[in-house]
Amino acid sequence: MIPVTEAIQIVLQQTPQLPTESVSISHARGRILSEEIVADTDLPPFDRAQMDGYAVRAKDIANAPASLKIVGESAAGAGWHNKMNAGEAVRIMTGAPVPAGADAVQQVELTREIESGSQVEILESVEAGRSIVRRAAEIKSGETVLRAGERITTETIATLASFGYAQVKVGQRPRVAVMATGSELVNVDEKPGADQIRDSNNYTLAAYAAQSNALVERLPLAGDHTEELKRQMARAVETSDVLITSGGVSVGVYDFTKAALKELGAEIFFERVALRPGKPTVFARLGKTLVFGLPGNPVSVAVTFNLFARTALRAMQGATDPMLAHERAVLARDIKGSIDRESYLPAALRTNEKGSLIAEPLKWGGSSDFVSFARAIALINVPAGDQKIAAGSVVRVVHLPN
Ligand code: AMP
Ligand code: MG
Repeated sequence: MIPVTEAIQIVLQQTPQLPTESVSISHARGRILSEEIVADTDLPPFDRAQMDGYAVRAKDIANAPASLKIVGESAAGAGWHNKMNAGEAVRIMTGAPVPAGADAVQQVELTREIESGSQVEILESVEAGRSIVRRAAEIKSGETVLRAGERITTETIATLASFGYAQVKVGQRPRVAVMATGSELVNVDEKPGADQIRDSNNYTLAAYAAQSNALVERLPLAGDHTEELKRQMARAVETSDVLITSGGVSVGVYDFTKAALKELGAEIFFERVALRPGKPTVFARLGKTLVFGLPGNPVSVAVTFNLFARTALRAMQGATDPMLAHERAVLARDIKGSIDRESYLPAALRTNEKGSLIAEPLKWGGSSDFVSFARAIALINVPAGDQKIAAGSVVRVVHLPN
């Protein structure tokens, strides 16, 4: 058995980075950037009005109310490009350039047009700078705004668009084959017979892999027969960067996944991790394809996918931070660790009145209880050791991807 951190290190060492490709901004969300995003303009590109109202000189209206002569209009996309003098005002709209000579914008609600629109009465004074965002106050042209290795989120899209990235360079999508093994399995659209259950792992793995940008192929269900496993694995590795299997890796009489891998000549990097749930996790390479042989229990599949396979899929795309995000939280109820394995226990998270993050361990029936696990948004990471961890202790939690 090797520790989880060592297993993750091995995964990272063995994971090659895929080539990059250029994608349209419309299809970039979720992908991992492989270029720096650099501002090609100042933001704002000119002194910009933040309100509809009048561009003024603060000094002119220090003793408001004061009347000013309206000398022009500056609209978004159609500025007024003359110089405004003392005693003058320019009608201005949100997003429009502030004319030279003006040093503040008074909002329209605090003004009143008089003399049939040739003059404006400013009802309250403003300090210089009010309602103006100065040129380059947000970003200077030439600044790096996003770095290679970052994930493109929905919030990132505006940045790409504003600096003209119609196409953006990202890591290629890994091709992933998922394969559920077990003679008890039937497809989701079938009614299980005696001694049978529906396969869920193939769908869980396909969904998780897709969340990590993979192009997923679901292989047909494989029974517990070494030759059948070998045939499917040999086929899958021809067209996949990663093969993820579930089931058949523990020590039962019909657990043939490892045997099949070994007979095919795979290089096995590890086959037992000091992890609960997920001890019999296998990591190997067959040809050029990385193989994750995950245990069959659905909760073990979720935990081991996210610790190991997700890390590899993101590293392949050049993610700077391929592992699950983690932080500290206060435990809401007592929990128990395992003597010789690190535990990852399903939890809900909330923030209490004092603003502390609270980790609430879910009641669950073990690694087969996927219905309870469905409520988890994080995993509480308990170090190996027999100790009880008391409510109120600070624990490490890792976030499941969303
Ligand atoms: P195994 O790792 O093959 O010993 O399987 C452990 C447990 O997980 C057994 O109860 C299996 O029936 C169950 N299991 C294995 N594969 C799947 C699957 N694809 N979907 C749902 N449950 C599974
Ligand atoms: Mg099995």
